Amino acid sequence: MNNTWVEISKSALLHNIASIKTIIQPCVKLMAVVKANAYGHGLTQVGEIAADYTDGLAVINLDEARLLRQKEIHAPILVLGYISENEDDLAWAIRERIEIAVNSLSHAQRLSKIIKHSSYGSDSLRLHIKIDTGMGRMGILTSNAVDYVKQISELPNLAIKGIMSHFADAVGHREYAQEQLKRFEDIKFQLYRQSVQDNGSGASGSQDWVWHMAKTEAILDFPQSHLDAVRLGIGLYGLWPNIKLIDRVHALHPEFELKPVLSWKTRILQVKDYPEGEYVGYGCTHKTHRQTRIAILPAGYYEGYDRGLSNKGDVLIGGKRCPIIGRICMNMCMVDATGVKEVKRGDEAVLIGAQGREYISADEIAKKIDTVHYEVVARINPKIERIITE
Ligand SMILES: *Cc1c(COP(=O)(O)O)cnc(C)c1O
Repeated sequence: MNNTWVEISKSALLHNIASIKTIIQPCVKLMAVVKANAYGHGLTQVGEIAADYTDGLAVINLDEARLLRQKEIHAPILVLGYISENEDDLAWAIRERIEIAVNSLSHAQRLSKIIKHSSYGSDSLRLHIKIDTGMGRMGILTSNAVDYVKQISELPNLAIKGIMSHFADAVGHREYAQEQLKRFEDIKFQLYRQSVQDNGSGASGSQDWVWHMAKTEAILDFPQSHLDAVRLGIGLYGLWPNIKLIDRVHALHPEFELKPVLSWKTRILQVKDYPEGEYVGYGCTHKTHRQTRIAILPAGYYEGYDRGLSNKGDVLIGGKRCPIIGRICMNMCMVDATGVKEVKRGDEAVLIGAQGREYISADEIAKKIDTVHYEVVARINPKIERIITE
């Protein structure tokens, strides 16, 4: 797909990491969330850079963890999603010091058993136990947490590294988030008290566990939730998780800024002057009301350019906004480039990013198709090349 590519700005990525470090305490560990192909930015491209400037990476599955290790990235890796319960995969995870999110007591029991039945030497599988404090997704319910964590800590072949939870909405539902945090801290307090009483038996070593809960919005706006480590996702890529946060963060940190990391570019495949009164594209959804200079671009919904942008989106050509006309096709789309002087085949067209004085943000696209910018960038086809620029 050499007519379309994604550019990743290394300086923007480093800027975002440095900026986030200015608003967390130095003792708080920073985890870079590079799951889902680094939110569409390119797993290994982002992972290689982020590994050198953060305390670890978080991915969604073992396949992503493998791709990072294959690139000689030796940073700690936490797998946030579900992993296969296959002996060879677990052996690999142990050998490569991959840390796994565990979601229930039975999940931990199964893992312990599979490892016990094979020969792994003396090493253990590293775990982070996920507590569901009110997200309703993966994890052990608050009411069972103390009991189950203690039971998991006693299982053979497993080594607890951390305890984690996840906010449903740390900004829009602050009271609920506060309740989630309180539940999490109560669990920590009870486990700590019991481990002191047990004098090191039971949930032993629990003083060394890393407690973490905050994603980007909580990193930016809920400092009490930073605990031992934070998990930075969308902010790493220079996108605000919630526009409402910009003013709130600036009130406390006037200099704080996030820089979008990703640009998505294409080259025009063909330019033509199309007569007035003709239809453009499948379904005849656009009719020219004047002679129209059409530019055809090699990006369609297969590439991850959402079909909802049909007759709605804009792209940048020659520093000017050009509207999408007609329906987005599977691998192409058409734009009205009548306003661009001397536009020709091979010219660059920007789908996301800057050109001249104009800018198209992932957020602008998200609003047009009624979704979030997370989805817009994460769905850019992984086969499209990600190129690191300065
Ligand atoms: C994706 C994810 C994050 C990162 O969230 P952002 O809002 O992108 O910062 C953090 N923690 C978990 C468990 C996640 O799944």
